[in-house]
Amino acid sequence: MSILLTTLNARYTHASLGLRYLLANMGALQEQTRLQEFVIGAKTTEIVERILAHAPKVVGFGIYIWNVEETARVVAMLKRVAPQVAVVLGGPEVSHETNEQEIVRLADYVVTGWGEVTFPKLCGEILNGPKPLMKVHAGVQPPLNDLALPYSLYSDDDIKNRTLYVEASRGCPFKCEFCLSALDKTAWPFALENFLAEMESLYQRGARLFKFVDRTFNLNIKTSLKIMQFFLDKLEANPDDPVYAHFELVPDHLPDALKEGISKFPPGALQFEIGIQSFNPAVQTLVSRKQDNHKAADNIRWLTTQSHAHMHVDLIAGLPGETVQSFAEGFNKLWALEPHEIQFGILKRLRGTPIIRHTQEFGMVYDPYPPYTILANRDIDFPTMQRLVRFARYWDLVANSGRFGNTLPVLLDDAPFQRFMAFSDWLYANTDATHRIALERLVAMVARYLQTQGMDKADAEALLASDYAGAKPKPAETPAPKRQARRLAA
Ligand code: SF4
Repeated sequence: MSILLTTLNARYTHASLGLRYLLANMGALQEQTRLQEFVIGAKTTEIVERILAHAPKVVGFGIYIWNVEETARVVAMLKRVAPQVAVVLGGPEVSHETNEQEIVRLADYVVTGWGEVTFPKLCGEILNGPKPLMKVHAGVQPPLNDLALPYSLYSDDDIKNRTLYVEASRGCPFKCEFCLSALDKTAWPFALENFLAEMESLYQRGARLFKFVDRTFNLNIKTSLKIMQFFLDKLEANPDDPVYAHFELVPDHLPDALKEGISKFPPGALQFEIGIQSFNPAVQTLVSRKQDNHKAADNIRWLTTQSHAHMHVDLIAGLPGETVQSFAEGFNKLWALEPHEIQFGILKRLRGTPIIRHTQEFGMVYDPYPPYTILANRDIDFPTMQRLVRFARYWDLVANSGRFGNTLPVLLDDAPFQRFMAFSDWLYANTDATHRIALERLVAMVARYLQTQGMDKADAEALLASDYAGAKPKPAETPAPKRQARRLAA
């Protein structure tokens, strides 16, 4: 075996689509290429030992924001114990600001951007000569239909136990400055018939959970409808063994035809991730995000009231020009629309993203280490930003977990952001922890907090006990069937 493709995934359940694309497009070198995935947190020595057990001549690493630091340690050790092995890096994290990175210094070669054409070519040169002269190779972007699709490379074990990532299109036509996809010129679709044939084959092999990584699923409504119809047909044919699909949507583009399609999905079959990011028009203009806030709000309201889709809506704190006050207004507005989850993100300066142009004017201070989270800016000082970080963490534990369905509305009342921030400050002051808070302890802490707000002890405990007993889900909740909920939680 000559070539090993590898990466450190964030979790075991995340099967790497990028590596499978590379393997599918290795051409004549495919026979001598293998794929092995690891999970972050594994011991460096073990990873290196297992890589070398393949006796590879070339190792290709997929580098992402979540694994760059650990992979740098792996590459450093690998080059010490086996300096003859050529290390090639690829992936979004090394595709920009490439020459400034320690991991790049340690490696032999880097492929930036798309790897499917350039990585096999580079491997051929490393193995058979002439030896490549350059260290950094700009990835060639072929027409999408020239790419071999990777889905047959999902193993039966992947299908059974892991999230299957799929893509019907690549790229995004929008230019939100905090996002790596802002660098794409447009969105390119894969040939729909081929793509659906691959989905059919995955389905026949037992796949039931499909996570679309398309940045904007609802760009081309005709295509969106055909993909949705594929899933509706499966649901109709086999309602006892339902299929589940996850899509990312832009919120202000939901024509009637799409609404009609969405409304046909039964509970537990559809999940949407919707980026709002900010409801503040001045901030949207600053970061070049084009969004009709009225339409976006109307569409979210329609989805919560007229569809069974589970909705996960993203907001980002720390954007240039966003104050705590304006963020709070956006948060409260979104809460009123009753999505199932609000993903409260903190701005990160992803390598290569144009948001950097605001650094000086808005005093943007980012952590120099991955994931490059914002620490302070002109409008939000460091201590306040840390309060927001804790809010986000506690929000996941209390609100997004769905474990406090009856208590949460009482806790938030008529000022969700302000009241949850007060709770978050209190919880931190009284636990000194944002992680590893066991559920029982959290329940006890929430009960105590409600008492500090004037609630009778017995009432607080009864309210929490009703959640603990799973008495009543949030009004808009459409939980996935048990089997799928388990998969989604993975
Ligand atoms: S945030 Fe979404 S819409 Fe904006 S550039 Fe990124 S992927 Fe595209």
